[in-house]
Amino acid sequence: MKFHYNDKLKKLSPYLFIEIDKKKKEAVEKGADIISLGVGDPDMSTPEHIVKSMQEAVAKPINHQYPFGAGSLLFRNAVSYWYKKRFNINLNTDEICALIGSKEGIGHIHLGFVNPGDIVLVPEPSYPVYNTGTIFADGISYFMPLLEKNNFLPDLDAIPTEIAQKAKLIFINYPNNPTAAVAPKEFYIKLIEFAKKNNIIVAADAAYSEIYYDEKEKPLSFLEFKNAKEVGVEFHSLSKTYNMTGWRIGWVCGNKEIVAGIAKVKDNYDSGVFQAIQEAAVTALTSNQKCVETARKIYKERRDTLVRGLKKLGWDVTLPKASFYVWSKIPNGYTSLEVVSKLLEEASIVCTPGDGMGKSGEGYIRFALTVTVERIKEAIKRISKIKW
Ligand SMILES: *Cc1c(COP(=O)(O)O)cnc(C)c1O
Repeated sequence: MKFHYNDKLKKLSPYLFIEIDKKKKEAVEKGADIISLGVGDPDMSTPEHIVKSMQEAVAKPINHQYPFGAGSLLFRNAVSYWYKKRFNINLNTDEICALIGSKEGIGHIHLGFVNPGDIVLVPEPSYPVYNTGTIFADGISYFMPLLEKNNFLPDLDAIPTEIAQKAKLIFINYPNNPTAAVAPKEFYIKLIEFAKKNNIIVAADAAYSEIYYDEKEKPLSFLEFKNAKEVGVEFHSLSKTYNMTGWRIGWVCGNKEIVAGIAKVKDNYDSGVFQAIQEAAVTALTSNQKCVETARKIYKERRDTLVRGLKKLGWDVTLPKASFYVWSKIPNGYTSLEVVSKLLEEASIVCTPGDGMGKSGEGYIRFALTVTVERIKEAIKRISKIKW
C-alpha cells in the first residue's frame, strides 16, 4: 500500500518543538548534559491538593461515564467563581465551555467559524496552533508581525481594509508567547473597536495570565473591556498556572454564541473532558491560590538570574513582566538558528529560535524558565565561554 497524506498535513511546517526535541535527543545520545530552556512545559509538578482531588475523583464510578459536552456544571461554576475573583467579570455557565487543554479549542474554533478562503488574522511570531487551525479549515492566515517598536502588539491600522473586511477571526495572546509582552488597556479598547467594525471574532489566548511578576500590574483579561463579550472569547488553561500540561484541561469563555459554536464542533469530535479531571480542576480553581504565588516566586528568581546573567555578558535583553519566557536579542552577525545551534553544540543548551515561530522572530531566541536557578547559573557560565 502507498499512503498519501492529506494536502493540509503537507502544508504544516514540522512542529517546531518536535524538531527541537529531536536535536536534543541526538545530543543526549552523545552523552551531553543538556540544559533545556526550549519547550514551554513547567518542570514543577502539579500541587499535591490537586493530585489528591484527582485520586479521589477517579475512584467515583459516576466519573467513568461520558462527560457532558460543555463541561460539568460544577466545573463551569468554578470557572465563573475564579473569573469573578480574578478579573471581577461575571460569567454565566452558558458562556463557558471546558476544553481538552486550551490548544484543543484554539485549534477547533476555526471549524466553527471559518469557511474555505476566509481570512484569519494571526500574529507572528506566535503559538503555531493559530495558523495550523486555519490550514485545517482551508482558511488563509494573514500574518500580523509583532515588532519591538510596537511593543510586540499587532498594528491593527496596518491591516489593509479589504483584508480586515474578509477576516473572520483574529488571534491575540497576552501575556505573549514567545515575546513575553503584555497588552495595555488601550490595545484592548482599539481591538474591540476594530473587531466590531469589521465583524471579526476575537480569540484571546490568555494561557499565561497568572504568570506575572508584579502584583500591581496583573495581566488584564480581554473580557474586562466594554463590548468584549459582543465580539469574542478568551481561552484559558490550567496547564501553566497549576503545572498541569499533561492533564489536558482548559476552557473557553465569553460570547455565548461563539462558545456554542466551539461546543458544537467538539460534540462532533470528542465527548468532552474526563470528569475526574474536571473535578480536580474545580479544586485547583476554588481552593487557596498560594501554590500559584509560590510558582510565580520561583519563576521570578529564575527570570532575574537569567536576565542578569545575559546582561552581564552583554546580551540585549529586557526583563519580562509576565509569562515564563525570556525573549532575547541575539549576538550580532548571526541568525537565530545559528545561535540556537551554537548554544546546543558548544554549551548543550536548548532554546527556541525566534523565527521558528514566525519570520519576525528572526534576531531573537526564546528561553523558557523551566529549569532551576542552579541550572540557569550553569547555563550562563557555559554561555560565557562561547566565542562569538
Ligand atoms: C501552553 C500554551 C497554551 C495552552 O496549552 P494547553 O495545555 O493546551 O492548555 C495556549 N497558548 C499558548 C500561547 C501556550 O503557550
